[in-house]
Amino acid sequence: MRVLFGGWCAPGHALLGLALISSPTWAADGLAGSKLYSPTQRMAPARLNAAQRDSQRLRATATNAPAQAAQAAKLNDYRVIFHAHAEDSAHTGGTRPEMLAEAKKAGVHAIFLSDHYRPPRDFITESWRGMHDGVLFVPGSEERGFLLAPTHSIAAQMKLETPEFIKAVTADGGLIFLSHIEERPNHSMEGLDGLEIYNRHFDAKNDKAGILTLVLKMTDPKGIAELQKAVDETPDAIFAGQVEYPKVYLDKWDAETKNKRLTGVAANDCHHNQILIAKMKDENAVIVGTNVDRDDQMRPVPASLRPTIRELVKGHKPGDVVGLVDLDSYHRSFLNSSTHIFASELTENALRDALRNGRAYVSHDWMCDPTGFAFYAQTGDRQSFLGSELKLDSGPIKLVGLLPQDATIRLIADGKPVAQAEGRRFEFDVKEKGVYRLEAWLKIDGEMRGWIYANPIYVR
Ligand SMILES: [Zn+2]
Ligand SMILES: [Zn+2]
Repeated sequence: MRVLFGGWCAPGHALLGLALISSPTWAADGLAGSKLYSPTQRMAPARLNAAQRDSQRLRATATNAPAQAAQAAKLNDYRVIFHAHAEDSAHTGGTRPEMLAEAKKAGVHAIFLSDHYRPPRDFITESWRGMHDGVLFVPGSEERGFLLAPTHSIAAQMKLETPEFIKAVTADGGLIFLSHIEERPNHSMEGLDGLEIYNRHFDAKNDKAGILTLVLKMTDPKGIAELQKAVDETPDAIFAGQVEYPKVYLDKWDAETKNKRLTGVAANDCHHNQILIAKMKDENAVIVGTNVDRDDQMRPVPASLRPTIRELVKGHKPGDVVGLVDLDSYHRSFLNSSTHIFASELTENALRDALRNGRAYVSHDWMCDPTGFAFYAQTGDRQSFLGSELKLDSGPIKLVGLLPQDATIRLIADGKPVAQAEGRRFEFDVKEKGVYRLEAWLKIDGEMRGWIYANPIYVR
């Protein structure tokens, strides 16, 4: 059985040992004392209720008007999804029409698809491209450890050596991002536009205890009812229970941006493949798995281990589905993690241009809609948005962060926290060269949880 809450990717992903990056001494950790609970503890009904309630309160009291600085620069804040899978593999449960409907529900403006590569199908010419019912689709692929968004078919170049391959992807405005950083922490960033700075699947992989918790629930009528109640009443909180500070990702980003501009994006890594299913095997056993598992891939659980199974299968015949809970509908996944892009208009070209220039931030929207957020450098009466490059000796530089909700705001320079403040406005006078990025944290159920991770302003 391949239950992994946040999605499940290439075969063997879940089982492979992680290549751990040793933490450099300069790197930032999460906020001191921010974490109170493990993912399993966050699954308790009282925890879920408190987290969902807090997010509702934060959303209700936010001021989401577009930031004046963005309006002045004629930039709109678009909610965009990266690393999204639909009808692209045997382990993907969702379809593109379903994804579209769910994107509209979540207020998503654009989706960069990342189809698993399966020749001879061409992931550019045989996919969705352009506006579909108000949502912009950009075709692409997840292959060779990258998210690929070329502007034209590269079917003939897929087997090139890596440097030539990267050139083929990025020719004529194509974009390429390094993906699943924990698997390749030392990968070269040469020729790349950026990297994932958050990946929902990584959190799922790390929560080994979560799988057991879910199996236990799916083999007990009371557990199934509880899980369904949690999905109905606290859908965002339960999806976010595994989410942690993405240190491995941010460490790589902080280290590499010292030398080179790199745009950070959020990997949603959604597949809609976490519909949990329990099926009756016989009166003394069930099999438990997901919507993408064949029966022989599901995990048999005997009543000798879980006596509640006898009650679960009562009145059923072998093969009957006796429990089904949908954990990862696309729209819940989209609300969990997204990339906001400041662009002049909702077109593929405008989004590509913004990404190349680092005008983006990663957000966990479920906690509070971040629209209205801005991070810019004020020099005289000029405002330079995140992603900009400025010269220290060209005059005083003030960094300004604007938040739609009271938050704990933290400024990181070259991987080191250099300032922290509370509230909706943050200012910092730059005295030294550095790569300055902003984080915003919100209190959810007593814990400080990372909400916004902004792309840097480069002071050279
Ligand atoms: Zn996958
Ligand atoms: Zn993926």
